Amino acid sequence: MTDPPSNIRALQSEQVLEVTWPDSHVDRFPYLLLRAECPCASCRDEWTGERILRAESIRADLKLEGMEPIGTYAVQLAWSDGHSSGLFTWETLRQLAGQIPA
Ligand SMILES: [Zn+2]
Repeated sequence: MTDPPSNIRALQSEQVLEVTWPDSHVDRFPYLLLRAECPCASCRDEWTGERILRAESIRADLKLEGMEPIGTYAVQLAWSDGHSSGLFTWETLRQLAGQIPA
């Protein structure tokens, strides 16, 4: 079980979601990475885990329109392209942190 972040901030001008973990570690997730890695069933095959969403189809000027906490285990992100079914659990974010471009 991953502890919930102590803070989540959307930095719209940088298109970055800044997540501060309880151990003070900060991960800065580019919106495009989060959108591309959306774990919902229409973006990713539930059985194979294969990505269905094409990265090229994501708009470069993507904005985050909303964040909805889901219990204490996840956050639901609503994007300016109208997509809002992606639930990002803290585990998912921790895993995605390894894919943040340096
Ligand atoms: Zn999705």
